[in-house]
Amino acid sequence: MDPLAMVPQVVLMGPGPSLVHPATLRAMAAPTLGHLDPRFLAIMDETVARLREVFETANRLTLPVSGTGTAGMETALANVVEPGDRVVVVVAGYFGQRMVEMARRLGAEVDVVEVAWGHAADVEAVAAALRRGRAPKALAVVHAETSTGVLQPLREIAAQAHEVGALVVVDAVTSLGGVPVEVDATGLDVCYSGSQKCLSCPPGLAPVTVSPRALETMERRRHDVYSWYLDLRLVARYWGQERFYHHTAPVNMVYALRQALELIREEGLVARFERHRQVARALWAGLEAMGLRLAVGEPGLRIPSLTTVWVPEGVEDAPIRQTLLHEHGIEIGGGLGPWKGRVWRIGTMGESARLRYVIQLLAALGASLR
Ligand code: PLP
Repeated sequence: MDPLAMVPQVVLMGPGPSLVHPATLRAMAAPTLGHLDPRFLAIMDETVARLREVFETANRLTLPVSGTGTAGMETALANVVEPGDRVVVVVAGYFGQRMVEMARRLGAEVDVVEVAWGHAADVEAVAAALRRGRAPKALAVVHAETSTGVLQPLREIAAQAHEVGALVVVDAVTSLGGVPVEVDATGLDVCYSGSQKCLSCPPGLAPVTVSPRALETMERRRHDVYSWYLDLRLVARYWGQERFYHHTAPVNMVYALRQALELIREEGLVARFERHRQVARALWAGLEAMGLRLAVGEPGLRIPSLTTVWVPEGVEDAPIRQTLLHEHGIEIGGGLGPWKGRVWRIGTMGESARLRYVIQLLAALGASLR
């Protein structure tokens, strides 16, 4: 028996992956071309052009790294940070902490701005950390912290970093394509994402974009990037016009990303952001009407694509998620770190951000909690 014949259609409302449009799945099933075939090179160029649109940037160095969101994070940090550099990291949850671990492994002197889980960073505290000690090479922050459901004040934080000449490295894994990121207008120097969240493509690619300022810094590096595979100067020689062989691109994943970006283009970014906001508002109202409490009290701080809700007193987290999955065919996520067992994480990302799925989930959750 082919195990894939048994795979059910699950409504993916966890922290990613999100639902994938059938057109994107069909694109993946197109015949595999050689990674240097001129027809594939044209598809690569289109993918990059569309990535610039979704990042809202004119950055020449924009490409999808072969790997998941974590590869994007490692690429961003490894290409900017050198041993001995001072790096300020805003840690407002699980993924901010991952950035700290990576920056430490790169030999950076890491300064952490701790933010209580469920809260937004205090811009004054970030400004103070940036001005403490040696001039920082970079400031790193997660825009939409998937572990807490809080959207961080990116524009204000980026402005502070630029005042001290630090490069701004931003994780837009849970925001890109669902929430405005506006790389150029916000002043982001290195920004990365993952294909499987608001872009609604299967997991496997990590779009990355680099500002001319960050590129200049990279060109002046004293040390080679520790990772040969993630060295953007080498990868860019394949994605740019030189077409220098670096590694074999995951051809069918690129087809999928191009198609997912095409769907975003057809919908339009403004309409897409509005859809995410409307669907999130419906979800929040429905959860509150059921007597559940949202973990992020202030609506203005909540990520439209990822909602955290407290597991009610006396209810066990995992059995409810199992019931949702096995009896109702809906996936939601559990908590991470200190919020493990305490929150559910509900994703309304990309194709999963539809009112019909919210209604389905609310009904199933109500039945499971009864
Ligand atoms: N950053 C954030 C904010 C995330 O939510 C995730 C994954 O959930 C990652 C990074 C890591 O991405 P991946 O699991 O695709 O490697």
